[in-house]
Amino acid sequence: MSDQAFYSGLQTKLEALRDDGLFKPERVLASRQGAQVIAQDGRTLINMCANNYLGLSGDPETQKAAAAALEKYGYGLSSVRFICGTQTVHKELEARLSTFLGTEDTILYAAAFDANGGLFEPLFDENDAIISDALNHASIIDGVRLCKAARYRYANNDMADLEQQLIAAVDAGKRHKIIVTDGVFSMDGTIAQLDKIVELAQKYGALTMIDESHASGFMGATGRGTHEHCGVIGKIDIITGTLGKALGGAMGGFTSGRKEVIETLRQKSRPYLFSNTLAPMIAGASLAVLDRISASTALRDRLMDNTAYFRQEIERIGFTIKPGTHPVVPVMLFDAPVAQKFAARMFELGVLLSGFFYPVVPMGQARVRVQLSAAHTREQLDTVLAAFEQAGRELGILKNT
Ligand SMILES: *Cc1c(COP(=O)(O)O)cnc(C)c1O
Repeated sequence: MSDQAFYSGLQTKLEALRDDGLFKPERVLASRQGAQVIAQDGRTLINMCANNYLGLSGDPETQKAAAAALEKYGYGLSSVRFICGTQTVHKELEARLSTFLGTEDTILYAAAFDANGGLFEPLFDENDAIISDALNHASIIDGVRLCKAARYRYANNDMADLEQQLIAAVDAGKRHKIIVTDGVFSMDGTIAQLDKIVELAQKYGALTMIDESHASGFMGATGRGTHEHCGVIGKIDIITGTLGKALGGAMGGFTSGRKEVIETLRQKSRPYLFSNTLAPMIAGASLAVLDRISASTALRDRLMDNTAYFRQEIERIGFTIKPGTHPVVPVMLFDAPVAQKFAARMFELGVLLSGFFYPVVPMGQARVRVQLSAAHTREQLDTVLAAFEQAGRELGILKNT
């Protein structure tokens, strides 16, 4: 406590964040997660900013499955996996995820952040090349930083640039090359062009890795993910993802792929070796979620119906959105102060959503991001659309008025 300058330095930096409008206040919920939530002040809000794509976070069936696993396996393990932290439920979940994703084997982590953070260093060294999309998730960027492989970056979703970077890696004589991309980019709802990526990988002898955090459980006809959506199941070398979004929403992550890869990660991946095992109730609930979405596509179908409806109606009202099909819908307001005012007004109108401004998104690309859920009723979506129309009219930002 003797270095006062340290603390006042932090204070100054925090004030600068506030002054720049970059400070992130936390919204406190007084209810469980869902299409509707109760704020701390007791107000009921329609929630349009959770990653609760299938509506399973606050769902009673998910809760029951977690409770059953809690009863059978207890609260926790107080151990890493390899000492005494592996239960049958963890092995079952790993096997079920492999079946679901169409891979050979799967390893669980405490979070997708850990899955990505611990992926590259055990598998690649200075002789290798990692060719990474510029908009990849922070955890991929950190994981790549921890690894000695040469780094090549290609412009977001730009296949011509990806090919240039592959050529550069080949010219540099790199041994193994791996193309690394989010399956879906969460700021824009952009879907990676995995069919083209797989083609380029074959052409240049590269491996492929996708992070399916915004895809597992609902992208593709049966919810397998972006690789199903793009018709390349079985052609992606490594898949990482989270249990903390569509697949139940608690926490937990995974890496899935060939046996040799997964076995190597079990032996060498540091967030796996030196961190506690996933709580058994999460593993049990995740199994139940996978059972449920494998038995029926009803939830992902409802999510996609809601998405198509919202995308169509929001444009009809006169808003500009980034085109696409993903339940992440960026409603473009372009100007940062307008986006801020807009998000605040929507909050007053009972809609919870988040605004994004530079530097989180490029300058002049300010927006509010809507995320649809299977749990949203048509009535709730109509209420949200009416609030959009009202706020849009008040702020004079509708195209056709
Ligand atoms: C959310 C997210 C993560 C982190 O997932 P956690 O399981 O919450 O750590 C990793 N990658 C991507 C692309 C994400 O969207």
